[in-house]
Amino acid sequence: MRSQICVLPGDGIGKEVTDQAEKVLRALEKRFGHSFELERALIGGAAIDETGGPLPERTLRACRESDAVLMGAVGGPRWDGAPWEKRPEKGLLDIRKELGLFANLRPAVIFRELAGASLLRPDIVEGGIDLLVVRELTGGVYFGEPKGRDEADGSRSAYNTMRYSEQEIARIARVGFESARKRRGRVCSVDKANVLAVSELWREVVREVAKDYPDVELSHMYVDNAAMQLVRDPTQFDVILTSNLFGDILSDEAASITGSIGLLPSASLSGSGFGLYEPVHGSAPDIEGRNQANPMAMLLSLAMMLRYSLGLEGEAKSVEEAVAAVLKQGFRTRDLAHSGETVAGCSEIGDLVAEGV
Ligand code: NAD
Repeated sequence: MRSQICVLPGDGIGKEVTDQAEKVLRALEKRFGHSFELERALIGGAAIDETGGPLPERTLRACRESDAVLMGAVGGPRWDGAPWEKRPEKGLLDIRKELGLFANLRPAVIFRELAGASLLRPDIVEGGIDLLVVRELTGGVYFGEPKGRDEADGSRSAYNTMRYSEQEIARIARVGFESARKRRGRVCSVDKANVLAVSELWREVVREVAKDYPDVELSHMYVDNAAMQLVRDPTQFDVILTSNLFGDILSDEAASITGSIGLLPSASLSGSGFGLYEPVHGSAPDIEGRNQANPMAMLLSLAMMLRYSLGLEGEAKSVEEAVAAVLKQGFRTRDLAHSGETVAGCSEIGDLVAEGV
């Protein structure tokens, strides 16, 4: 099989971690007989320095001509004071919009070897946590119109609109159900249907879409309860399906209970299965260029790309298992190491995972 992948290293540790993903892709080529054509392009601060803007037309074209996009991270203090048009983070928002990436998938997994890193009590996480938040990314209250501010009789007020069309709800629901089919077959749809009209419609449409997925078990939960259940008993969840605002909050909550930002992957998908895959962390300028970055979030994002955009489930599993094996053998990057444990560098972890796939 031949696939075209656009690689966007970005800034800071983005380049260091995408180098490890390329290594692992080359190892997968040898092991499984695939051919991955990689095209590197600029985004973020690196693109600003070279072309004057954070998302050059050439980069967008390279993304559109690819089967999937693998991105490192953008940003850094050098560009912090610049006007918004020349900020690396603008490249992130623009690429999501330009590529129509409406579904954000964020797994929260606790590797047994790292259960001690979780912020939760050991008895809560001992069964292992493995859930996936599927968040709608381009609608809801962040984008709804009208929005703005008023002033009357010397008093200020401000407003936003939480609006979803049934088409927007149906397409994200499908992503949720399809994802559940690739996992343990359960979707928990999170809303606030006891108060919000938009959530009533959300629940109605999710139920309608569910009829096409009789093999997937559907449940509903109010968002306030979901926030509580996530810390009380996160093992009860498989796929959490939710809107932009609720997903923003719950995916960070779910991530934080795993305890380490260097381990968290993400995917942003369009309707056609096309997607952009990136670690949740930023460009970590404080450790840039020191071979100290943990590449595992990037490598787990690569596994998501293999699974969701390229349909290579076996290859995705082999990357995830190789990462788990490296942890089991006791290798830790600085962010994970306790005192007394041997610290491995970013490229060393990349080599070990590449050998292990
Ligand atoms: P950050 O995620 O870059 O770093 C936070 C802390 O976590 C730092 O101490 C860093 O060293 C550590 N860390 C992050 N990733 C790590 C890894 N893989 N291995 C080991 N340690 C890691 O967040 P920040 O410091 O708030 O932001 C730095 C820059 O990144 C900013 O310019 C910000 O705008 C940008 N940013 C970009 C993205 C993205 O590209 N998606 C996301 C968040 C932040």
